[in-house]
Amino acid sequence: MAVRVLCQFTAKRGDLDLRFTPAPSAREGIAGHLIVAGRRGRDYETEVTLEDTFDSLRVRGRADGYDSKERRVDECKTYRGDLARMPDNHRALHWAQAKMYGAMLCRKHQLRELRVALVYYDVDTEHETVLAETHPAEALLAFFDEHCAQYAAWAQSELAHKTTRNQALQAMSFPYEFYPAQRQLAESVYRAAVHGEHLLAQAPTGVGKTLGTLFPMLKAMGAKKIDRIFYLAAKTTGRELALHALHALASTMKLRVLEITAREKVCKYPDHACHGESCPLAKRFYDRLPGARAEALERGVMDQKTIGAVAMNHRVCPYFLSQELARWSDVIIGDYNYYFDQSAFLYGLAQEQGWRVGVLVDEAHNLVERARRMYSASIATESLKRAKKEAPPLLRNVIERVGKEFQRLANAQQAPYQVYEQAPKSLMKALDDYISKQSALSDQAVLLPEPVQDLFFDALSFYSLAEEFAEHSVFDVTTPDYATYTIRNIVPAPFLKLRFANSQSVVLFSATLTPRKFYLDLLGLPDTTRWLDVESPFSPEQLEVQLVQHISTRYQHRDNSIAPIAELIVKQFERAPGNYLVFASSFDYVARIAEQLDRIAPQIPNRLQHRQMTESERKEFLDGFAAGSQCIGLAVLGGAFGEGVDLPGERMIGAFIATLGLPQLNEITEQMRLRMDDLFGAGYDYTYLYPGLHKVIQAAGRVIRTREDRGVVYLIDDRYTRPEVRELLPKWWQPRRERR
Ligand code: SF4
Repeated sequence: MAVRVLCQFTAKRGDLDLRFTPAPSAREGIAGHLIVAGRRGRDYETEVTLEDTFDSLRVRGRADGYDSKERRVDECKTYRGDLARMPDNHRALHWAQAKMYGAMLCRKHQLRELRVALVYYDVDTEHETVLAETHPAEALLAFFDEHCAQYAAWAQSELAHKTTRNQALQAMSFPYEFYPAQRQLAESVYRAAVHGEHLLAQAPTGVGKTLGTLFPMLKAMGAKKIDRIFYLAAKTTGRELALHALHALASTMKLRVLEITAREKVCKYPDHACHGESCPLAKRFYDRLPGARAEALERGVMDQKTIGAVAMNHRVCPYFLSQELARWSDVIIGDYNYYFDQSAFLYGLAQEQGWRVGVLVDEAHNLVERARRMYSASIATESLKRAKKEAPPLLRNVIERVGKEFQRLANAQQAPYQVYEQAPKSLMKALDDYISKQSALSDQAVLLPEPVQDLFFDALSFYSLAEEFAEHSVFDVTTPDYATYTIRNIVPAPFLKLRFANSQSVVLFSATLTPRKFYLDLLGLPDTTRWLDVESPFSPEQLEVQLVQHISTRYQHRDNSIAPIAELIVKQFERAPGNYLVFASSFDYVARIAEQLDRIAPQIPNRLQHRQMTESERKEFLDGFAAGSQCIGLAVLGGAFGEGVDLPGERMIGAFIATLGLPQLNEITEQMRLRMDDLFGAGYDYTYLYPGLHKVIQAAGRVIRTREDRGVVYLIDDRYTRPEVRELLPKWWQPRRERR
């Protein structure tokens, strides 16, 4: 056990303090240590390797410096900014490390007492601050024993937990009847997990993907092939399904299941800053943590509600409590960004702990678009202006320079949208100056107005992505009204590659992962990634698929398409009254179809999706589709109702999809097409066709949810009859041209 890790567990005390403190880079840290060592005498040893034991616990580490003549051990830390503002919990940790090394040196050299020092070296001023204390050897050895005992007790209970858990997982049998398609999926996931492979699994609705992927991954954990499981989903519904499935298993399997929720959703004091002087739940956070941690782990399933309750019992922040619990949980459920984002928490933790992780990516077709957003950054003139207005005088000049550099580009621009080869050097220099200046003001950062802080984080993200700029991204400027400057990622593969390389096994599953190459290319999965196309549990007789070729939904034909689409809906409704969903490409299109329906069939009730519906409005919209009711719902394809909506049986008996789902034709999508063409020779397919058809299949998937369901899907557009389009439709569908 490394001294650093042991102390992190036993010695963190005091408040949680997230005030921004600019840390020196690794290079500055190493250089700082060398300078400090160079200032010491000849008897000064550096990087002193030490090892000791406590019962069966072996403790290792390297003291930064030991002066045998002065009998002094140094724990050296480099820093930048105001030392007085260093959080107390950091200082407590530094003392604990120094004392642990002190104890190990006392035992090794049979010393009776030792001077223990913290040496803080300021990388900007090269000034050293030394805090030293003299301790008798017995006191240091007692300190060593106390911390080791604390850790050993915990480690032992952790070991016992793992042993019991693994035995239970090995004995675990599948809790329901295994359907053949689900078994096929589960076997492939298990193979991938134990062989350390990645898997793309296309599995239609109804297969039981949540349990079909979790069960084999848990089995692989029981077989000691996986240390941790991360279940990642883009939507709340996906995470809820996983939690529900794990609830049933957790109590008998002694599983610790953790749900991680975004800070803005669980923060109890949104107007406060995350440090003890501002937020009561940050005050004495580390003192209260052991109690909160023990109670939460005892609960087994630690969903948002449970963590909230435990956090309140112990008066600690629920968000940071869940981050601490991640170290001790077997299965963690959260959003994609916790593993794939630029500074992903779970990925960082897994790397730090050396875990072999099994990652399950639910509805993985969403990962391409989500990852693009994770690796894009924008700065708008508007935010520069707001920040400049509210910035302290010290920052105003540097913000103004950044603004001028951006403005220079916008002024010279011939068209409202333009792509540049890269961000100009002068702009990067201006950004660098601004970032450095605001970093130097770090200890005031919490006091800076929100627009200034927002600009700072946007600038940091923009700068770091501009530094890694390559053919995977474009730099563009849009100038109508207020100019926006964007590093826009198109192919996230180069960023995600390492995430896959450093995972034992990643299983990406969804009903729409065709063609496989599209996902390999865009996500950066290795060529060795396994592919599985799970057979549908539904029969073609359950779903009537009609291709409507006499209507074109192209933009220029839209006016003429409204009336025939409405007639088609009414005709079907009269043939089989019930609940239907109609999908079109825009709110305007949807509203015009609804108006036409009101004109020709006012007796048929309809419900319309509106822009920016709240969660309760969305629920109300869906609740309108009850068993036995008759209603036409109209929604935008790719929006809130296009996927992740479960309306089984009579709640939904048909869908009309009046679009091919192609992304809007504009300069940005055209840029993507050009880049996809350059990189993969498939610009149109990669930019328009595949993403469009994925949305169509997802929306059509709302109709048949169980083996008892029957329904109809109308694919409205002449292009649905083209072979390259039909080839992308699910194999179990048997589309027919519409009877007229
Ligand atoms: S409750 Fe909110 S403000 Fe307080 S520490 Fe937690 S996240 Fe920060």
